Amino acid sequence: MKKLFIFFTTLVLTLSSVTFAMTPTYTNDAKFNRGVGNCCYYVDGSASGYANQISSAANNWEVTGYGWNPIYMTEVSSNYATHMDFYSATPATDSYLSNSTAGYTTFWNSNSTLVASKTNFPTYDYFYTEIIMNTNNSGSYDYRTAKHEMGHAFGLNHYENSYSIMFPSLAGMYVSTVQQCDHDTINYLYN
Ligand SMILES: [Zn+2]
Repeated sequence: MKKLFIFFTTLVLTLSSVTFAMTPTYTNDAKFNRGVGNCCYYVDGSASGYANQISSAANNWEVTGYGWNPIYMTEVSSNYATHMDFYSATPATDSYLSNSTAGYTTFWNSNSTLVASKTNFPTYDYFYTEIIMNTNNSGSYDYRTAKHEMGHAFGLNHYENSYSIMFPSLAGMYVSTVQQCDHDTINYLYN
C-alpha cells in the first residue's frame, strides 16, 4: 500500500505541473511597461464598425465578475501615447492577415519600433499595441474577437482551454466573456 500511495502522489504532482490554473503569459511575463491603471485606447476610422465590440471588450476586462483587477480603460480621440490602437484591414491590404484570421495584435516600444516581429508574441515589456481586425472575416465582428485581442495586448498568451477567452479559435471556444483564469493572469502580471 505504501508503494501505491507514492505512485499516486507522483502522478498528481506531474499533472499539476502541466495544468495551468491561469491563462499563460508570454516569455518573461512580457506586459505593458506602464501598467493598465490608465489604459487609453484609440479606435481609428478604419475600425469604426467595431466600436460596439471594442467598448464591450473594454467594459468586460474592467468588470469581469471575478473580483477586482487594476484595469481602467478610457477611449481617446488620438493615438498619442495610447496603450491600444484599433485598426481594420483586409488580407489584400495587410499581408499579415489571412482569410482565416479574425484579427491580430502587435507590440511596440515607445520609439515606434516593434518589440517582436508581427508574427511573434513579445519576450519583453512593451509600451503600446496595435490591434488589426480583418473586415473580410465575419469572425472579426464576433464580440469575442475584440476581447481576445485585448487580452493579447494586456499580456495574455493563448490557452488551450475552451473555457478561456484566450482559446486560439472561435470555433472551439465555449465562452463569450473574460473568465476567472483570464482575470487571474491580469492580477498576476500587474499587481
Ligand atoms: Zn490569439
